[in-house]
Amino acid sequence: MALKIHGQATGPFAENTYVALDEESGLAAVVDPGLGALDIWTSFSDKGATLDRVLLTHAHLDHIFGLSELIEAFPVPVHLHREDAFLIENYVSIAAEWGFDVDPVSMPDEWWEHGDRVQLGSTEFEVRHTPGHSPGSVILVFDGGLFSGDTVMGLSVGRTDFPRSSADDLARSIQTQVYTLDDNLVLYPGHMQTTTIGQEKQHNQFVRAV
Ligand SMILES: [Zn+2]
Ligand SMILES: [Zn+2]
Repeated sequence: MALKIHGQATGPFAENTYVALDEESGLAAVVDPGLGALDIWTSFSDKGATLDRVLLTHAHLDHIFGLSELIEAFPVPVHLHREDAFLIENYVSIAAEWGFDVDPVSMPDEWWEHGDRVQLGSTEFEVRHTPGHSPGSVILVFDGGLFSGDTVMGLSVGRTDFPRSSADDLARSIQTQVYTLDDNLVLYPGHMQTTTIGQEKQHNQFVRAV
């Protein structure tokens, strides 16, 4: 696989920050920059990789803790689905509710549309809108795997007790957009370990395959 993926869990929510490196071109994307994302990225830039863009599966606070610091040092386009813009707008107050004192983050540059294809060197990501955990959640599918954010995690699914979350939407999104993918794809979640589509379809008790 030409795409090399490094995942690291940090922060009080143990969110996974991913660096996806297209080895052929040396271009990389940071997916969901959690706490300390700049440090995680710097070990790659030190080895000559070039940051091309930041990809957000959704905009819950834990997955943007490291965003401002990262794009101040490496100014690149940031992609998000517009339905999650309210989470960026309200980041400071949402973080305060959880007891965190943060600076505002600027609005992303590019809005995802369902079916978009984003190129990173020789790697292509297909964007699938998967509302439920948040209204603007997406999964990013590439040759061999996908970044699932908090839509599906190993034998679990994202919480739906947040404002503008929906358990019904989540179940529909997983059944129509996730479980329809190839069983062998490796799923890189927003929290916890990697899994596969086949494993989730067979054993995930929260949303059953139909
Ligand atoms: Zn989330
Ligand atoms: Zn999360």
